[in-house]
Amino acid sequence: MDKKENNLMEKIISLCKRRGFIYQGSEIYGGLAGTWDYGPLGVTLKNYIKNLWWKKFVESREDMYGIDADILMNAEVWKATGHVDNFSDPMVECKKCKKRFRADQLDISNSDKKLDISNCPECGGKLGEEKKFNMMFSTKIGALEDSSSIVYLRPETAQGMFVNFKNIIDSFHHKLPFGLAQIGKAFRNEITPRDFIFRVREFNQMEIEYFLEEEDWEKYFNYWREEMLDWINLIGIDMNHIHELEVDKDDRAHYSDRTIDFEFDFPFGRNELYGLSYRSDFDLSRHSNSSSVDLSYFNEEKKERIAPHVIEPTFGLERTILALMISSYKEDTKGKEIRSYLAFKPSIAPVLCAVSPLLKNKKELRDYAHLIYRSLKDEFGKVMWDDNGNIGKRYRRQDEIGTPWCIVIDFDTLKDNTVTIRDRDTGKQKRIKKSRLINYLRKKIKNS
Ligand SMILES: [Zn+2]
Repeated sequence: MDKKENNLMEKIISLCKRRGFIYQGSEIYGGLAGTWDYGPLGVTLKNYIKNLWWKKFVESREDMYGIDADILMNAEVWKATGHVDNFSDPMVECKKCKKRFRADQLDISNSDKKLDISNCPECGGKLGEEKKFNMMFSTKIGALEDSSSIVYLRPETAQGMFVNFKNIIDSFHHKLPFGLAQIGKAFRNEITPRDFIFRVREFNQMEIEYFLEEEDWEKYFNYWREEMLDWINLIGIDMNHIHELEVDKDDRAHYSDRTIDFEFDFPFGRNELYGLSYRSDFDLSRHSNSSSVDLSYFNEEKKERIAPHVIEPTFGLERTILALMISSYKEDTKGKEIRSYLAFKPSIAPVLCAVSPLLKNKKELRDYAHLIYRSLKDEFGKVMWDDNGNIGKRYRRQDEIGTPWCIVIDFDTLKDNTVTIRDRDTGKQKRIKKSRLINYLRKKIKNS
C-alpha cells in the first residue's frame, strides 16, 4: 500500500481512538490480537447501522422474519454442515520462531514448488509443511470433560436460521418465498488478524436466508443483488469504491452455484465487504439428514413436498463501519488550517447536533441553551451538550466526529428567539427561529 493510503488508515485509527469510537481490546494489558472495543460514539454508530438494516430488511417488509439465535449450538450442527471437518485455512508454521501464517497470504499456497523452500517473513527461518487449521473456537460445556461436552462458538450466524426453519414455518405458515434475518456475533480464530477492524476474531454479521423454490433462484439472486447495492448507497458508502466480483466456480463453496462478492477499495487494498450467495438446498438437506427431522416444505397448490433453496445476502457490521469511515473521511482547507470531518448521513451520525451557549460562563445563555438541548434530546436522543473551549474548537471537534449541525445560543437569541445553526459540510451558518428547530432537523434527516 502506498504512503498516502497508509496515512489514511492511520488517521482513521487515530481518530477512532481519540474521539471515542474504537479502542484496542484489553488495551491496558497490551491488547488481545483481533479484538476491538467500541466506545460511546462507536457503539452508537453500530446501533444506528443495525437499526437501519433491521428497518430496511425486516420491519418494512412483509416476507421477512427476524430471529435471534444463541451463539452456542449443539456441535452436531457444525458436523452436519461440514464445518468441523472443513472450516479451515491453510497454515504454515515457522520452524525457528514458531510463528504461524496463513499460507494463502504468503503467496506460497497453490505454488508448484515445495513449501519448505519459503522462509518466514518475520525471522527468515524455514517454514514447515502447509497444514489445515480449523478456524472455529471450541470450548467445553458443563462439568463433563469428555468429547461429548465440546461446543463451538458459531463461525457464522446462518445456521441459527436454518435450524429454526421448521419453527418459523410452524408458527407463521408463510408461503415461499420468505426470509429469516438475524444480526449477531460470530467468531473465527483468524491466524493473522489484521487491518484494524477488517479481519478480526469476534465480529457481527447482519444476515438473511431467503427461502424459495429452486426454479426462482436466479430471479431472486438478481433481486437481492439490487437490494444490497441499495443498502450500500443508503448508508453512504462510496459507490465509486464498490466492485462486484463474480466468484469463480473453483473459489466458490462447493454448495454454491453462484456467489458475488461486493468488494470495497480499502486503503490496504480491494477486499471483500459483503457477499451474496446461492446456497441451493445444501443446509436444510444436510440438517434434515443429520437430525432426522423433516425440513421440507409443502407446496399447497402443487400438492408436493420440496426442499427449499436459499439465497444468502450477508453483511459484516464491522466492515460496514470501516468502509463507512473511509468513505466519510474528508479534509478541506476552508479555514486557516486543514480541517478533517466525517461526512456521515444524519440518519447514522452518532451525534445529530451539538448545542452550545456562545459563552460558557453567562448564566442566561447557559439556561436558554439547556432548554433547547433538553427539547432536542427528548425528540432525537443523539444530541450533545458542548461548552468546552471556544466556538471554533467546538466546531472542529464536532466536525471530526461527524456531527451534521451545531446550534449556538448567543445574545441575539435572548432578544429574538433565533439560534445559529451551522452546517458541517459547508461550514455555513444561518439563523433560525427556535420554534422551527425540531421541524427543520426532522426534514433534513428525512431528505438525507
Ligand atoms: Zn520465524
